[in-house]
Amino acid sequence: MTVQAVPEPATRTEHLLFLDRAAVRTCAAGIDPVAVVEDVLRAHAAGRTTLPAEGYLPWSNSQGAYCRSIAMLGSVGDADPTVPTAYGMKLINAATSNPAQGMDRAGGVSFLFDTETARPAVVAEAAYLSALRTGAYTMSSLRHLGPEHFQEVTLIGCGAQARTHAELLARYFPDVHTLHVHDLLPERASAFASWVEAGELPFTVVPHGRAAEAAAASTVVITLTITDTGYLTPDHLRPGTFVAHVSLDDLLPEVFDRAQALYVDDVELIRDNPRRVLGRLLGEGRVLAPGTTKPGTTTIRGTLGDVLTAAVPAERPDTGVVVSNPFGMAVLDVGLLARVYAQAAADGHGTRLDLLGADR
Ligand code: NAD
Repeated sequence: MTVQAVPEPATRTEHLLFLDRAAVRTCAAGIDPVAVVEDVLRAHAAGRTTLPAEGYLPWSNSQGAYCRSIAMLGSVGDADPTVPTAYGMKLINAATSNPAQGMDRAGGVSFLFDTETARPAVVAEAAYLSALRTGAYTMSSLRHLGPEHFQEVTLIGCGAQARTHAELLARYFPDVHTLHVHDLLPERASAFASWVEAGELPFTVVPHGRAAEAAAASTVVITLTITDTGYLTPDHLRPGTFVAHVSLDDLLPEVFDRAQALYVDDVELIRDNPRRVLGRLLGEGRVLAPGTTKPGTTTIRGTLGDVLTAAVPAERPDTGVVVSNPFGMAVLDVGLLARVYAQAAADGHGTRLDLLGADR
């Protein structure tokens, strides 16, 4: 469905619908986020999305903490019968000092634009949806590229993404009974374990004092830290392990060198960001883009969208390590928000804001 403002010809009003986190959560509960993400990934693989380069603004706050704003525009569903047409943006900001003030590190808003007037028509709390689409991508990659059978999962980093990943693991992989966790701050791992218990999620949480120990404890390793310094070597990972490298800087280059198979969400997005390890390795020619080969050098197999459209075979880990390295695509936020908005419109959720107020 397309997003169009409610026409009110007699008065010059400009309304948008505001969805706070509670409304987003309520609406998202009625949809299958992995199915939505997979529809958008197929559309992306078929070239029926638009993904402009991200805007990135870093600064330091008065405490000297690192702050950044990322503006991510995207559109989905151009002439695609399976994905509703939507244009929008996620604005996701973060300050590393926020957790010490009792706030999540990252937060922001996502927009949908009216397809006719181009005005913002929907503005929604972004962090929950961002975590949901990221977790849903991990679930899809696990479904298609993960070990055939697994009952234990390792989460390195116990913040907001870890919580959403745990909720989705409970929903999509009911055989999983144990979460091995590690956080640089042990109190975060303890708080995560308490949160799992309070929410009655069906997991035993096993905290590990060292990341390497946690990584070796299962055959599904999901990195959800905020590090910019790699720490996992190939020797830390068991043969037959699938790594969802969500936080993008945890794996040392040797893991890519020796990967059994490597998949991404979008090659160009990764290449455009040499701040992250895989972007740097691509730029150096130490990892190659799909379609190019050099003996002894890892070539990216393709995207998860290519796997879903059967353009590229899915390879699960057996004797080696399969790595999924999703940079994170705005089209997934926009596609997911479009479904959430459809639910909100159907059920009457959200608050209408008048952009012009008395000035009309
Ligand atoms: P968060 O700040 O809520 O949690 C991060 C946790 O990692 C914290 O508890 C912190 O103490 C811990 N940590 C930091 N460095 C660590 C290290 N070296 N070893 C172990 N633990 C460490 O962050 P979040 O919102 O949960 O996001 C997690 C990561 O996911 C971020 O890097 C974010 O940029 C990334 N992310 C990726 C995508 C994607 O699509 N690839 C999308 C969204 C977020």
